[in-house]
Amino acid sequence: MATTRTETTPVSCPTAAGGGTVASTVPVGAVHAEGSPLDWGASLVEGKVVLDETVAPNAPWSAVVRTGHVLTIVDVGGNQSADCLLYNADDPEERYSVPDTLAWQGNAYVRTGTVLRSSEGRPLMTVVANEVDRQDTIGGACGKESNTLRYGHHVMFQHGCRENFLAEALRRGLGVRDIVSNLNWFMNVPVEADGALGIVDGMSAPGRRVAVRAETDALVMVSNCPQMNNPCNDFNPTPLRMIVVEPAPVADDSRSAHAARTAKEGA
Ligand SMILES: [Zn+2]
Repeated sequence: MATTRTETTPVSCPTAAGGGTVASTVPVGAVHAEGSPLDWGASLVEGKVVLDETVAPNAPWSAVVRTGHVLTIVDVGGNQSADCLLYNADDPEERYSVPDTLAWQGNAYVRTGTVLRSSEGRPLMTVVANEVDRQDTIGGACGKESNTLRYGHHVMFQHGCRENFLAEALRRGLGVRDIVSNLNWFMNVPVEADGALGIVDGMSAPGRRVAVRAETDALVMVSNCPQMNNPCNDFNPTPLRMIVVEPAPVADDSRSAHAARTAKEGA
């Protein structure tokens, strides 16, 4: 459903003398293929909905997900990178750590079962369901400085995920020192046989979802990636839907089964 969108958008600029216009390559509002219905999806885990919000294209978002609650992120329009940072809500000095997460599991990709660990090595959240083959946590976040370096000075006024993170961090009493390496839900960053990384066409699709369970009260910050200079968003930024549920008691079966299995293996 994604369309390639490279034309510039005229934006009214009230500060310009005579009320002129400036050209911006950043899309304004939702952009979708004409006539295509959006699949707003539903929670991947059954339970009582405690939060249900949409994130506009290009915008930041954050919420505290309580211990045991499950956040489902819906890639509403398909191939939309949701850059994500996690913090211990009670002590944000403890935050998501890429090396702890990857070294602990011995694999470069984030998939169902991946425990998202903190800078202290403790579990912050666990991926409990995932509808794309693999999720990325190596590719990093875009920003106006890196965009300018990679794509040229004509993109220096486009905001990136780093600017989204900083804006949202400010609302939470955090700042530039708290922005660390991140997760990229729905972004395709293959690790090639020779170890090279690529940021290539996405493998997600409209309505695909990922669900993460909070293992402690977790502050989740997301940037709905505004990148328009590489294919990570299909050149078509689309909305995200964020649904938090308090799982029904039956959802704890997987935990009980895991506990039983662990006890058996330990015996
Ligand atoms: Zn980005």
